[in-house]
Amino acid sequence: MPHSSGGGSHSGGSHSSSGFSSSSSSSGGSSAKHIKNTSFPGARRYVYYENYRPVYVYADYDIRKGTASGKVWSIIGSAVSLLFGIMLIALCYDKPQKMDTSPSYHCEIKDTAGVIDDMDKVQDAIVDFYDVTGIPVEIMTVNNEDWQGGYSELEDFAYWQGNYSDLENYAYDLYVNHFADESHWLIVYSTPDGYSSSDGFEDWYWEGMQGNDTDDVLTKSVTNSFNDELQNNLTARTRYTVSSAISTSFDDLTPTVMKSKVNWTILFTSIAILAFVCLHACLMIGINPKARKYAKAKPCSDAAQEKACEYCGYTYVVDTCTECPHCGAPIPPEDQPGARFT
Ligand SMILES: [Zn+2]
Repeated sequence: MPHSSGGGSHSGGSHSSSGFSSSSSSSGGSSAKHIKNTSFPGARRYVYYENYRPVYVYADYDIRKGTASGKVWSIIGSAVSLLFGIMLIALCYDKPQKMDTSPSYHCEIKDTAGVIDDMDKVQDAIVDFYDVTGIPVEIMTVNNEDWQGGYSELEDFAYWQGNYSDLENYAYDLYVNHFADESHWLIVYSTPDGYSSSDGFEDWYWEGMQGNDTDDVLTKSVTNSFNDELQNNLTARTRYTVSSAISTSFDDLTPTVMKSKVNWTILFTSIAILAFVCLHACLMIGINPKARKYAKAKPCSDAAQEKACEYCGYTYVVDTCTECPHCGAPIPPEDQPGARFT
């Protein structure tokens, strides 16, 4: 099914294309290891020292050893996520491929409303675009009465037309009735029947309808910038006719449409994912600044007493060490591990 590439009107400004957006999500791994500041079932109390003061934590595993399998899994997980991130970054660079459309396709102008005053200029512009992209363009001009209600003069629709809610729906019908493929780009311009410049405000509309196969070339960012320019040109009627508004928009689009583009959304998403992966990897592999302190932690009982070292005066926890954790001086024998039970 073709879909709108965007459109606009004299009174309403331009609107962008209807398209799909995708989202991705990632999930981090979880571990069965817990460290908390308060006691919990299955936890053991540990003490370590920070800034010469004892810090107590509760853990349901031996915090002095990182688990080897946990490390292996987190390294594998990080490597996979890293590859995924690099792949995403590679996807950010999009080089459109020229479409391999049927040689029987050609660009056409169907000026039913009689508003194209320079056919050759418009034809040259859309043929240049076709030569570069492989996308055949068709320009159709219609009258507002054709879709808002009234008798249509279009040969394929020579019967009572109208009652379309907007030009987009009408353009969709025009597309599927004219093209059996998904390779064309149809631009429909609509103006009131019998309008002349002396009538003042011209209630014009336009709509682009692109086949699905054109999506790789006519990306949202391509059609958005084309829409903005065509809308501006059509509005600046003192400087542009309908013909030159259309031809200029195509002439400006053609030289850049096949250039590689960076998809900033994907790029920023991948950078965010990579940053998260690196942080996660650092934490899991033990660059975690606490890992070093945990390695020196000692198990202790809930009732463990604190004492001041006789030499340096800093606090140590009784029953957990044979020498002062701060200055290395020997601890009195009665405060050494196991002393109380012998
Ligand atoms: Zn000491």
